Amino acid sequence: MKDATIALHYGYEKDAQKTMNVPIYMTTAYEYQDTDHAARLFALEEEGNIYTRIGNPTTRVFERRISALERGIDALAVASGMGAIFYSISNLVRAGDNIIISQKLYGGSITLSTQTLKQFGVSAKYFDPQKPEELIELIDEKTKLILFESIANPALTVPDFEGIVKIANEKGVVTICDNTMATPYGVKPIELGVDVVVHSASKYIVGNGSAIAGCLVEAKHLKEKLKSKRYPQFNEPDESYHGLVYTQKFENPFIARARLALLRDYGAVISPFNSWLLINGLETLHLRIKAHSQNALEIAKFLQKHPKVKKVNYPFLEGDENYEFAKKYLKFGGGILSFELDSYEEAKNFVKKLKIFSLVTNIADSKSLVTHPASTTHQQLSQEELKAAGVPEGLIRLSVGIEDIEDLITDIKKGLD
Ligand SMILES: *Cc1c(COP(=O)(O)O)cnc(C)c1O
Repeated sequence: MKDATIALHYGYEKDAQKTMNVPIYMTTAYEYQDTDHAARLFALEEEGNIYTRIGNPTTRVFERRISALERGIDALAVASGMGAIFYSISNLVRAGDNIIISQKLYGGSITLSTQTLKQFGVSAKYFDPQKPEELIELIDEKTKLILFESIANPALTVPDFEGIVKIANEKGVVTICDNTMATPYGVKPIELGVDVVVHSASKYIVGNGSAIAGCLVEAKHLKEKLKSKRYPQFNEPDESYHGLVYTQKFENPFIARARLALLRDYGAVISPFNSWLLINGLETLHLRIKAHSQNALEIAKFLQKHPKVKKVNYPFLEGDENYEFAKKYLKFGGGILSFELDSYEEAKNFVKKLKIFSLVTNIADSKSLVTHPASTTHQQLSQEELKAAGVPEGLIRLSVGIEDIEDLITDIKKGLD
């Protein structure tokens, strides 16, 4: 099956009602046939429904589809993108371990890695995702993972996938790629050798900004890596399941442990209703992401020629600092771009004049959004700190929607007048 067909049909077995749209199983629990059946389910001898905290039939359809689209062996949906990143990290680390993260990451992933995890005895080191050779020095025997983004939010950096994967594989360290911005249609990190893909499904996957959700996807090749001494929790008996050893019992040890141990105990489960929204979002993702990218590229080209614009950042714009890796690894540039005006005042005035773009700190809605980081997300920083963070005070970020391109350009023209 090809991707567009997977997105519409894969992983849904119709029940007695034969509903075309995947039903929403809004239920906490499920009835067992008898006590023997219940005992087999609890002993993991048979697969089946137990309790929605660790699995739900609606959610399962979404998990199968995103796993197939990312070329994984299995997936787990959770309550948010940050939840997915937390589960993927905490599945691999113990107190005393360290992780390596890209300098160009989503803000929440940075604070999670450098502040919150520190309180549990896990430390973080930075690397430049376009200079993977830095990893050679950074990796030690306590290093459990390398986390980076396929297109960084908000920096738009495209990583050197092959360089990162090569060194990580030589050292036996797990790679995690946040593929929120590129989507599985822009790049399939698992095909490039990455071990785990995570998503904030709140963005392009749900598509219309209607739900917070996230997911993790495991590559088939991860199992071999997890068999090493570096990852004892996958090779030693889990006392909470009568001595179960994940790499012996499962072909998908990473997702199995995330579901059976982490989701069971942390409990940040996705609502079946939100899973249903994600299923509906996936059905049109391939059409939307192309439209987002086409519109964004046209706007980037328009802005590049405008006399009031100092600089445009978009990975698929010729001459952009990410152009080379973008052309090598990505099918298209995505819907997010940024550009620089002369001053804080000019940026503020631009935002004020827009009619179609809404001032919102979110990305990847089907409706166009605009942010001015210096007055919102980065407001606490001084002029020097803004510069160091790569956020000039006149920087504008656009999340380009799928409206008519002529209307969008007219709106931007008026904003720049
Ligand atoms: C939004 C976002 C997240 C966080 O996702 P939530 O669903 O808001 O928790 C993580 N990574 C990236 C790249 C994002 O854009």
